[in-house]
Amino acid sequence: EASSSTDFIRTIIAEDKQTNKYGGRVVTRFPPEPNGYLHIGHAKSIYLDFGVASEHDGGVCHLRFDDTNPTKEDIEYVESIQEDVNWLGFDWGEHLYYASDYFEQLYQYAMQLIKTGHAYVESLSADEIRDYRGTLTDPGRESPYRNRSIEENLDLFERMRAGEFEDGAYVLRAKIDMASPNITMRDPTLYRIRNVPHHRTGDAWCIYPMYDFTHCISDAIEGVTHSLCTLEFENNRPLYDWVLETLDLPKPRPQQIEFARLNLEHTTLSKRHLRRLVEGGQVSGWDDPRMPTISGLRRRGYTPEAIRHFCEHIGVAKRDSTVRMSLLEYFIRQDLNQRAPRAMAVLRPLKVVLLNYPEHDEETLEAINNPEDPGAGTRQVPFSRELYIEREDFMEEPPKKYFRLAPGREVRLRYAYFITCVDVIKDDAGQVVELHCTYDPETRGGSAPDGRKVKATLHWVSAAHAVDAEVRLYEPLLQTPDSADSDSPDDFTQTLNPNSLDVLTGCKLEPSLAEAPPGERYQFERQGYFCVDSRDSTPARPIFNRTVTLRDTWAK
Ligand code: ATP
Ligand code: MG
Ligand code: MG
Repeated sequence: EASSSTDFIRTIIAEDKQTNKYGGRVVTRFPPEPNGYLHIGHAKSIYLDFGVASEHDGGVCHLRFDDTNPTKEDIEYVESIQEDVNWLGFDWGEHLYYASDYFEQLYQYAMQLIKTGHAYVESLSADEIRDYRGTLTDPGRESPYRNRSIEENLDLFERMRAGEFEDGAYVLRAKIDMASPNITMRDPTLYRIRNVPHHRTGDAWCIYPMYDFTHCISDAIEGVTHSLCTLEFENNRPLYDWVLETLDLPKPRPQQIEFARLNLEHTTLSKRHLRRLVEGGQVSGWDDPRMPTISGLRRRGYTPEAIRHFCEHIGVAKRDSTVRMSLLEYFIRQDLNQRAPRAMAVLRPLKVVLLNYPEHDEETLEAINNPEDPGAGTRQVPFSRELYIEREDFMEEPPKKYFRLAPGREVRLRYAYFITCVDVIKDDAGQVVELHCTYDPETRGGSAPDGRKVKATLHWVSAAHAVDAEVRLYEPLLQTPDSADSDSPDDFTQTLNPNSLDVLTGCKLEPSLAEAPPGERYQFERQGYFCVDSRDSTPARPIFNRTVTLRDTWAK
């Protein structure tokens, strides 16, 4: 499934191969921080990082955990990330790395910066540092500690490592340029004190390196050639280059190239926001089927193929844009239309009794498993005197253009017979509770020997044979199309859709679905694509998730 597209990143890599910049090597990396689950935005990066590497002979993509911030990280995330990358169809082979494995080397490099006069230990508080740093319109001011002697810096930094100080007492800063128009270059922090254990290194460290210091050096250590990241790191590129250059690391050095992140309408792709939903209980977990996480999409019924096709389609560009949810849904519909077996399921049942069908009789009818796939064959569906149809497939007073069942009207039951409604049974409150119909035995299989036509075909389930199930319908997480990835947390929760989950109980499924294994996907005829919930469903209490409706419901 090699990418056919070409884009500015592939063009740069092709040029580097032509000029032999990296001796023909192509090494990329996908560098998640294990502080949450992967989402569809990460899939875009994964598809690019692994995809680009696979297009070149000997090209490799590393999976590297950027695990330098122990306060938010956890082994649970390390494991889920590996599972998700694999599930998406990518393989890092033996190239699994952890930035935390470089802590000693990183420390030595920091010492080297101090010894060459390029880093100093700062005593200002975090607030003071921010204040001294200035703004876009104001140049920064130099810290009074900027000109400590090399000896003093070495001594303090060693004592930082030795655990002599509280969190925040000192940081190590690069000595670059407090007047730089690029605020990132105004003496950025390289190390901070965090007296917390790390999920891999335990208590070995109490100082932890910052992203900007860690990332470029990790790339260099691993021989990464092209370090692809999202646009918000554009201002960090000069720092990436400064660290490698100032440490005089061997050439050719890795290069950072930025591309636009994925934004999706009606959801958020900010880990911080996703975590708030999980911790606040607004969703059932990172794998809640409403979440844009890979595990959520998987549980919802998405296939890795659909996600890859989506990533292929959106491509990579240099300008941020927001993609419509309907585009993602288009790709899962395409995929499931080809391979999901069809089944009949009545979500909101209305009882139908066929007055002229012999009591206690039953028969089986042949149904096509997948019209898109003749190899999928057929199955037998039981039929009997009492059936369920969809409540919305009957109207007592049908408006024009409503062709489904109504008093006195004849319709077709899929794979079965024509039926005519002869009586409407109501409860005391006037609610329709049952329909009495007759069936025409001559129409078995769905057509009339006398050639008469009906205008509607309904799905149905035999009452005596039906499997009771719960069906969960999902709507978007956010009411407004804007992705809530701004920094205003209030806006974010205000825009949450209170009706993003609709649980239907007492749904009636055809009996072949009784044995459906967790995760199995189906098209419920006329309804959409559904899958067996992989977490909550049991044979005694089947639960299905709606992956997507049959038609695009976004288009107006
Ligand atoms: P954090 O908020 O913790 O920084 P993050 O979303 O940046 O979260 P990382 O684990 O740091 O997550 O990301 C790993 C890689 O995935 C990075 O290279 C990042 O640029 C990329 N990535 C993250 N979000 C998106 C997105 N929406 N679209 C494309 N790539 C993304
Ligand atoms: Mg990050
Ligand atoms: Mg980020």
